Amino acid sequence: MKSIYFDNAATTKVDSRVLEAMLPYLNDEFGNAGSIHSFGQNAQSAVDEARNKIAEFFGARKQEIIFTSGATESNNLAIQGVVNYFVSQKQKIHIITSKIEHPAVLETFAEMKKRGIEVDYVGVDENGVLKIAELKKKIKDNTVLISVMYANNEVGSIQPVKEISELVKEERSKRTKDNLPIYLHTDAVQAVNYLPMNVEYLGVDLMTISGHKIYAPKGIGALYIRGGVKIKPITFGGHQEYGLRAGTNNVPGIVALAKALEIISIEQKKEIQKLKSIKDKLIKELENFENYKFNGIPEKQLPNILNISFLNAEGESILMLLDMDGIAISTGSACSSGSLEPSHVLTAMGRPAEWAHGSVRVSLGRFNNENEVLPFIKSLKIIIDKLRKMAP
Ligand code: PLP
Repeated sequence: MKSIYFDNAATTKVDSRVLEAMLPYLNDEFGNAGSIHSFGQNAQSAVDEARNKIAEFFGARKQEIIFTSGATESNNLAIQGVVNYFVSQKQKIHIITSKIEHPAVLETFAEMKKRGIEVDYVGVDENGVLKIAELKKKIKDNTVLISVMYANNEVGSIQPVKEISELVKEERSKRTKDNLPIYLHTDAVQAVNYLPMNVEYLGVDLMTISGHKIYAPKGIGALYIRGGVKIKPITFGGHQEYGLRAGTNNVPGIVALAKALEIISIEQKKEIQKLKSIKDKLIKELENFENYKFNGIPEKQLPNILNISFLNAEGESILMLLDMDGIAISTGSACSSGSLEPSHVLTAMGRPAEWAHGSVRVSLGRFNNENEVLPFIKSLKIIIDKLRKMAP
């Protein structure tokens, strides 16, 4: 059987058009963008051109785009960079995030807490959407940063980033010049392919993206930083990226990122339609199953993610058996030291452990098609029946 890749939220295949755009910069045009000679200048021109295009995609200015190695680094730079600035000013600050963030945000917040920063977490409703009233109550006079993802990677729930930015504006209007500023950061990794990304429309001050979720390679990402945001670098040893991110530029990666965004801007509408129809078909076919629940609802979800819990069937076992049939999906559970921890996202959504343990994530992408639905459903049905028969 032909293999089926339904794990596009984990990573995507590099689009051949992206590969074609970046290849010259791995080979003939291999210069270091920091070198003065022509090899370097050619590389620098490619970086400049890519930065301009990316800035345009986000409705930003070119000096507001900082290239990084990916979303983990962008999130770290956004959070640690802002915190470090205020700590260097001897300010006592407070920062807020949601309970359903990617570990790249959650663990950075945990680290900030260890360093003595006051940290708060906001919950989500049963569909995995942030409780905005709870967030409003948690904002204090010394809150300098709110970090809420644009769309969740496990259940695909879309977060009310624009509404949060309205709250931030309201809070800002109450503060004077002598008060601390307040910034909104969003980890937009999973949203870039499908949702509006204009930073003025969204009202965000910092925004994270990653190449390998949008058909560019692994190892490239970016952080949008609105001009004037108080932030310190977290890496040292070079003057690249306006002094905010030391290290030789990943020129092929940067070129690839710009090309990937260009393709999104042209093909997004068509792609969303296609993915919605594959997802609808999956949902319809799943009606023939018993004892299952969707985690999240399509109206508040990305078009490419479907998260399903099966009672009395472990997510990890489903994943492994599907893999034997050549089908790749993922699960929210993390198998650590022999014990299965239920996903922090499903737990925050109020899913009991017996449902959370049987959860799997199907994440579609550009290279999937409707013909993959039935073979997947057929394998899944056999696997679920088998696991349930074996279940104690
Ligand atoms: N944030 C979210 C929402 C993600 O889904 C991921 C990847 O799984 C990351 C951050 C980390 O991205 P990267 O692999 O680019 O560091």
